[in-house]
Amino acid sequence: MLGYSHIADGTRMENTADGFNSSMEEKYRALAYDTTLSTLLAVLVYVLVKVSLDRIRQWRARVSVLVVGSGPVGLTAALVAVRSGKVLKLTVLDERYRSALLCRPQQIALDPRSVSFLFALGVDFDNMEGCWHNDHFFTKIGVFQEHLLSILEQKKQKVDIKIHLGTKFSEEYLRKIPGSDWPRIIVVADGSCGESCSVLGISSDYIVESCNAYGANATIERLDQRQVPTPEIRAHSLYFDLSAYGVDFFPAGRESQNSQQATVKPGFHLKIYGTFRNRYMALSCPASDSKMVRFLRHTSNSSIMKNIFHQSFNAYKTDIEPRLNDLTLHHLQCSRKLFEIMLSHRRVNAAYIEGDNVAVTIEGEAARVLNFDTGCGVNLGLRGLESLGTFIYKTAIALDQNDVFEALSAKIQHSKQVAETFRQTGLTTTMFE
Ligand SMILES: Cc1cc2nc3c(=O)[nH]c(=O)nc-3n(C[C@H](O)[C@H](O)[C@H](O)COP(=O)(O)OP(=O)(O)OC[C@H]3O[C@@H](n4cnc5c(N)ncnc54)[C@H](O)[C@@H]3O)c2cc1C
Repeated sequence: MLGYSHIADGTRMENTADGFNSSMEEKYRALAYDTTLSTLLAVLVYVLVKVSLDRIRQWRARVSVLVVGSGPVGLTAALVAVRSGKVLKLTVLDERYRSALLCRPQQIALDPRSVSFLFALGVDFDNMEGCWHNDHFFTKIGVFQEHLLSILEQKKQKVDIKIHLGTKFSEEYLRKIPGSDWPRIIVVADGSCGESCSVLGISSDYIVESCNAYGANATIERLDQRQVPTPEIRAHSLYFDLSAYGVDFFPAGRESQNSQQATVKPGFHLKIYGTFRNRYMALSCPASDSKMVRFLRHTSNSSIMKNIFHQSFNAYKTDIEPRLNDLTLHHLQCSRKLFEIMLSHRRVNAAYIEGDNVAVTIEGEAARVLNFDTGCGVNLGLRGLESLGTFIYKTAIALDQNDVFEALSAKIQHSKQVAETFRQTGLTTTMFE
């Protein structure tokens, strides 16, 4: 009995100890649970507050932007900047006065991709003098620039926009900017002859790469003709009879008519574009070493190319414009021979100016240019602007230099990609199709 009682007592004691332990455990568990919960809550509150503060900071972040050059690319860049919603102050410069800026004769052809890009920026094609053909929009460069300037004027109600035409970007201009007014972003769009990069100390080295094609250009200026938007004309698979110059008449690429294996490579591609007053022609073909191509690449007889353009123009022009004849042939100026089509693009297309804390991006023909006019040059510049909005956004919300470098690096990558894509497929879409 004693033993039992002892056991019974022991059991009771154990039960008491168990109860004590489990209630302690429960307390500990509750305490741990409370601690975890409150830590989680604190972390959650911290994250929420941080995210909210970050959001507020990002939402409020604004930068001053300076656009150098009011060509089609510079003005479009200005619209992209406004559209980014991150601009505190936008300054747009051009060394030319308004009249000189808007009187350029050339016509621009906007391809479908450029049209939708511009449409999203508020460009109203229904209210711009121009014409549509094959989903491309053709207008005069001055008309296009005037339209963009008018949109920027309207945006002045929402954003502080200053447009200074007749103002050259130079060292003197930079010196005059008060320290507090320095822009955080400079978009250089000063065209193929611009020197603004050297003002900013940016290298003017270019990478020059072949587009694996040959080309020649011609212009016909006839002041008695109309200066109205005109669709372009394209013709393909052209072969020229050069037997009068001692070159056998074989389609380009066919080296011998007798050869069983002779393969006919595609012939030349011709484009006639511009207005009736300022007509431009581009002739091109994929690189080959066919007899005809070799001959046209190396001939020193400049009348051969002139003849080709003369005959091609008369064969493919619109019915309502006059033919070129012996009396009007002097209006035609053209390349003397076929040349290799090359794309030059800047080695440095974006940079960070330390000390002044300015991010610079180079756009349009200031960044990349062809030695061959396809009549669609402006599209190449607009492609580069497709990453400008993100670049401005990222630079505006940057916390430190590393964030700015990241934004610049993405911009540089995109710029390189634009050049490479054009080199691979650009001529196909602008000339060969
Ligand atoms: C004869 C000719 C015919 C063409 N035909 C066609 C065509 O049919 N279709 C087509 O799509 N494209 C055509 N082009 C190409 C087209 O004009 C260009 O692709 C386009 O103008 C490039 O735009 P951009 O804004 O980069 O440069 P630009 O139009 O050259 O603009 C650069 C601007 O920067 C300004 N600037 C330069 N330096 C400074 C400075 N230091 N400070 C302030 N401002 C400065 C200049 O005054 C200029 O207004 C043609 C070009 C030529 C020359």
